[in-house]
Amino acid sequence: KDIEKYFRVYAEVNLDAIIKNIEMMREKIKPETGIVGVIKTDGYGHGAVPIAKALENECVGYAVATAWEGHNLRRHGIDKPLYILGVVPENLCDLVINEEMLPPIFTYKMAKAFSDHAVKLNKTVKFNIAVDTGMSRIGYIPSEEAVNEVVEISKLPNVEIESAFTHFAKADYVDKSFAEKQFKEYNDFIAKVEAKGVKIPIHQCANSAAMMEMPETSLTISRAGISMYGLYPSEEMDKDNMKLIPAMSIYSHVVYVKNIEKGRGVSYGQTFVADKPMTIATIPVGYGDGYPRNLSNKGYVLINGKKCNILGRVCMDQFMVDVTGMDVKEGDKVTLAGKDGSEEILIDDLATLAGTFNYEFVCDLGKRVPRVFV
Ligand code: PLP
Repeated sequence: KDIEKYFRVYAEVNLDAIIKNIEMMREKIKPETGIVGVIKTDGYGHGAVPIAKALENECVGYAVATAWEGHNLRRHGIDKPLYILGVVPENLCDLVINEEMLPPIFTYKMAKAFSDHAVKLNKTVKFNIAVDTGMSRIGYIPSEEAVNEVVEISKLPNVEIESAFTHFAKADYVDKSFAEKQFKEYNDFIAKVEAKGVKIPIHQCANSAAMMEMPETSLTISRAGISMYGLYPSEEMDKDNMKLIPAMSIYSHVVYVKNIEKGRGVSYGQTFVADKPMTIATIPVGYGDGYPRNLSNKGYVLINGKKCNILGRVCMDQFMVDVTGMDVKEGDKVTLAGKDGSEEILIDDLATLAGTFNYEFVCDLGKRVPRVFV
């Protein structure tokens, strides 16, 4: 309440929008598929803990990148299955086992380390076998040898192979042939493992793009990341297929308005020089908040329902916009992302304008920007 009195800039996160986005995704996929909410990097910058709490009835589990991200969720009382997507170092095995997270496993050595720690702790650790069908990042590249290794892993004491997964590299492209090839490779690999008597109960392949446009790849579980936040996996996605609702809006307010004469420069490097008398407003946000410096001289904000262009370079904590001819006062609301009247700034578009992409934009939004949940 009254947040704008205390903070220069804040991000409003609409939890209902996230729930609605998940519901839309659910309509696309098989009814029996469970959805794992991907909330790594603090929920793509939106706030992992409040999101995990809000999605209690929507998600069968959550995916994080690291054991520490999982630990943070456990500390906040999240008790659903937690899938760790990145490699877990051996010194964190005990943490992962004690807090019942599922590490990705793709070498006998890492499986053995977990097994040894689980025996010592007198606990069972559940594995999520990573299969590399195309990312060349982590996971078993399908082969006879890999099949045999998974079989050997299944015989280790105090371990259970609960799940297996792969990750698509190009499901967000119009041409789905590479994703189809990956899906087939995954299924063939699993069929060979299962033929050797190792039954894996959970299978996960689909990310947001695959959930939206390749519903056949939604198996036991699908991992929804970017789409939950109301952002599209790429510009190649068919936006008419699903009208996602952006969950994050970013607001600030005008802290200063002044008139400048023709010939006066604005900001570092004087890269903008007024070619006529102008009125400019100072906005107390900058690249120190994760607002890209690349938006210098090309980004825009909304004030009183109108687009106002950024003039000159974005500084660490401030930038200036053109409000010439407008009735703008100190304290007026500034929309950096979101709706104001009939205008809307989409993070998808803003990120592209800044020469980055939406995933990076939201992940990079600074820690000093408070997240307000509505
Ligand atoms: N699964 C894995 C292994 C990932 O690395 C990611 C995101 O990077 C996701 C799922 C979610 O992808 P998206 O945000 O495109 O839905």
